Amino acid sequence: MKIAMLGLGIIGRVWAENLLADGHDVRGWNRTPKALPWSVPDAAAAVQDAELIFVVVADPPAVQQVLDRILPGLRAGQVVIQSSTISPTATLDFAGQVQKTGAAFLEAPFTGSKPAAEARKTVFYLGGDAAVLETARPVLARLASAILHIGPTGSASALKLAMNVNIALVAQALSESLTLARSAGITDETYFTALKLNASHSGLAALKEPKLRAREFSPQFSLKHMAKDLRLALEAATDLKLPQTRNIMGIYEEGLTRGWTEEDFSVLARLLE
Ligand code: NAP
Repeated sequence: MKIAMLGLGIIGRVWAENLLADGHDVRGWNRTPKALPWSVPDAAAAVQDAELIFVVVADPPAVQQVLDRILPGLRAGQVVIQSSTISPTATLDFAGQVQKTGAAFLEAPFTGSKPAAEARKTVFYLGGDAAVLETARPVLARLASAILHIGPTGSASALKLAMNVNIALVAQALSESLTLARSAGITDETYFTALKLNASHSGLAALKEPKLRAREFSPQFSLKHMAKDLRLALEAATDLKLPQTRNIMGIYEEGLTRGWTEEDFSVLARLLE
C-alpha cells in the first residue's frame, strides 16, 4: 500500500522502517527534516497518493499543526490513522476535521514502547468505525501483537490515558520499593529475584529492570510524554478524585524542572536517591 508516516520520532520511524521492510511504499515526513531516503520535506507531498496516513506526533497541538498542513489535500478513499496519545475531546475534534474532507479517520493510540515497536509487538487501541478499521487492519497487524477495537471515536484515547495513569503509578511504586530495599543493603540482584516471585511483579518491572539497575535512562518512552499524558488524564477527570494521579503529577513536574524531559520516564527513580 501507499503509506504516509507523519512524525518520525521514536515510534514513527520504527513503524515506517518495519512497513518498508514489508514492501509498502512508505513516505515519511518530520517537522524537523530527517536525512532518510524515504522521507520528504513536505507533509502535503507525503500524503498526496497515500491510502493510509499515520499521524504519530507529540500532543494535541502537534496533531493540529500536522492536520493544518494536510487537510487541504485529503480526499475520499484515504484513511488518517491518528496514533499520538491525545484526549478524547481532541480526538473527536480532529475526526470531524478529517471527515469533512471526505477522508476517513481511525483513532489508534497504542501501548508498547520502542522495544515493542521494533519487535512488531505494539498493541493498538482502536476507536471508530469497524469498516475503516478493516481497511487498516492488514497494515496494523504487521506492527502489532494485538488490535483491540474499544468502541466509538474517543473511547480508545480514554482507555489509553487510563492505562498510562496505571503505568505511571506502578513505575513510582516500583522505584520507591527498590529504593527502600537498596537503603537496607539489599542488592539489586536479590531485589529483582524476589520481585519475580512476588505477586506484584509486572510487565513494567520486567521492562524497566535493566534501566533501574544500570541507572541508564535513554528514552523508550520519554518523561515529557508521560507528563503530558497525566495532564491530559487529569483534564479529562475534572469530576473525579484520583488522589494518587494528582500527587504523581507533582513528581513529574519536578523531573521536568530538573531538565529530564527527553529521558525515559523511569528516570524519576533518581529523585529518590
Ligand atoms: P518523540 O520521539 O518525542 O517524537 C515526537 C514527534 O512529534 C517528533 O516527530 C516531533 O517532531 C513531532 N512533533 C512535536 N511537535 C510537533 C509539532 N508542533 N508539529 C509537528 N510535529 C511535531 O515521541 P514518540 O515517543 O515517538 O511518541 C509519539 C506519540 O506516541 C506521543 O503522543 C506519545 O505519547 C505516544 N506514545 C509513545 C510511546 C513510546 O513508548 N515512545 C508509547 C505509547 C504512546 P520534531 O522532531 O520536529 O520535534
